[in-house]
Amino acid sequence: MHTVYLSLGTNLGDKTQNLVSAITEIERRIGPVRAQSAFLTTEPWGFESENTFLNAAVRVETALSPFDLLNKTQQIERDMGRTQKSVDGKYHDRIIDIDILLYDDLHINTPKLTIPHPLMYERDFVLIPLKEILLQKETIQ
Ligand code: ADP
Ligand code: MG
Repeated sequence: MHTVYLSLGTNLGDKTQNLVSAITEIERRIGPVRAQSAFLTTEPWGFESENTFLNAAVRVETALSPFDLLNKTQQIERDMGRTQKSVDGKYHDRIIDIDILLYDDLHINTPKLTIPHPLMYERDFVLIPLKEILLQKETIQ
């Protein structure tokens, strides 16, 4: 089994429900969620929007390989209705974004998948929830 940290963000619709739904699907398709941060309201980063974000991080145990994990997270995004991808650093409002922050102590550097996530160290909306769960024992559900 592998330990992975995922970052979640949403700035459209019922944001709390979007995070709850995404975490339910992660549990169903990826593996047991061992820790979950609080939901944090943040300002859009890297683009202009009047819709604030709700962010969270989770720690998950999974048997999936890194690329299978990426396929699953992207499938969840699509099934929840996400249409646009970010290309060349151009960001959009989104129902759900699931990014892979850490996968064990693995380093991967391909155009399709970079782990640790290259921008995580610049983003408080990633780091604050991540810090909360890094040393957390299992979240009591
Ligand atoms: P962003 O999360 O930056 O807003 P997207 O979710 O649209 O952008 O993802 C753009 C691309 O980033 C994806 O198609 C995926 O292949 C790639 N990517 C590279 N590394 C990662 C990672 N660690 N987690 C998630 N996506 C990644
Ligand atoms: Mg993403």
